[in-house]
Amino acid sequence: MPPFVSRGLEIVRDPADSPRWDDWRWQASSALRSLAELDAALRLSDDERAGATRAEAEGFPIAITPHTLSLIDREDPSCPIRRQFVPSAAEAIEVPGDLRDPLGEEANEVAPNLVCRYPDRALLLATDRCAVYCRFCTRSRMVGDGGGPRSLAKLEEAFQWLERNRQVREVIVSGGDPLVMGTGRIRRLLERLGAMDWLDTVRIATRAPVTIPQRIDAELCRVLRESHPSVWVMTHFNHPKELSEASHRACAMLVDHGLPVMNQSVLLRGVNDDPDTLEALFRGLVRWRVRPYYLLQADVVRGTGHLRTPISTGIHIMERLQGRLSGIALPKLICDTPNGRGKVPIGPATIVASEGGRHTLKTFRGEEVDYLDPPSPDPEDPAPA
Ligand code: SF4
Repeated sequence: MPPFVSRGLEIVRDPADSPRWDDWRWQASSALRSLAELDAALRLSDDERAGATRAEAEGFPIAITPHTLSLIDREDPSCPIRRQFVPSAAEAIEVPGDLRDPLGEEANEVAPNLVCRYPDRALLLATDRCAVYCRFCTRSRMVGDGGGPRSLAKLEEAFQWLERNRQVREVIVSGGDPLVMGTGRIRRLLERLGAMDWLDTVRIATRAPVTIPQRIDAELCRVLRESHPSVWVMTHFNHPKELSEASHRACAMLVDHGLPVMNQSVLLRGVNDDPDTLEALFRGLVRWRVRPYYLLQADVVRGTGHLRTPISTGIHIMERLQGRLSGIALPKLICDTPNGRGKVPIGPATIVASEGGRHTLKTFRGEEVDYLDPPSPDPEDPAPA
């Protein structure tokens, strides 16, 4: 396919168009970032043009890597990949419940760039940069704000807080996308965390395997495997169209280097809010040895009401998938409650009644089946409720 050329801008959207396609730094630096570039690459709708105009002037920045562009339908604004990355005029609309900081991260910042909302976990914001900017991003208030990757010196207060608070056993390194940082910086960060031997795990939250899979190379995998004893990778595929050959290679390389890889998907209107789409996604991930971990109810991010679904949509999808999909392919449906009150699992009601140790459970076929508790070992209390 030849490059799509318009208004003097040459847009590369196919590996054959550039000898540097497999160079992740080229992918990052060649991302579309403006209305003019979007206009050259896609047949924009009026809604998208208005959204991009607003994003350029005052909103959350635009970035779409050539790899991601190659997955987008050039003509169709309802393309599920396009809806994730191309701005919409609806971003200007606030709906009831919208919040600038939906998870209360600023209120729970215990040191610069360190958020602690749970007793045993902390979130380290290592950079504000991403290869792409997802229009529904929970941290749209700060990603792409120009701060760039945080140096170890800038993170030192965060490290010292972790050293004083050893009840924290897991650090989630996020941002921004930490894997868009240079490999040397990632290594130094992991080695610094590796010195805290009371930590059970370091989790890397990244969309790189999806949006810039060229980033996952053998050197990076070795650094992730060797700079810290227990790194888990949490990636973020939302739609089966994102299961490209290049993403497959990236995930296989991570897993083959001994790194556990899990996926969280965000439930998004017009992207993946139906059981068949998610079934195809989860089956594809399992084939790649990537465990579907969470299906997240979209956070109440300001200006994303057009992309969010009612709670009932997720519950209906889980009802349809339960029993149809193996347990290893079925993620938990989670709502991260507004203002940072924590994650709550949600889903179809499966306990219909409970009385006197008898519980009536609803199966995936809709049958009601009783389960009896075992007799109590306490003779004074033979049938506990
Ligand atoms: S890659 Fe992650 S942090 Fe970056 S914009 Fe997308 S959702 Fe937000």
